[in-house]
Amino acid sequence: MEKINTKGHSFVGTVWPVIGSKGDKYSIVMTDEGFECNCPAYVKCKHIKAVEKKILCQSGT
Ligand SMILES: [Zn+2]
Repeated sequence: MEKINTKGHSFVGTVWPVIGSKGDKYSIVMTDEGFECNCPAYVKCKHIKAVEKKILCQSGT
């Protein structure tokens, strides 16, 4: 899977609201170091992957 270089990215500081599979609400934010999600998963979670995929699709590359 493609990896987004978030360092200096124009979306740094942007927050994406995500609804989890059980209706839980999470917030994913892009930082210079990568993405952060406030869900209980301590590894790179599916919410982050979904946001990454969305960005990659929108970038049209
Ligand atoms: Zn998450």
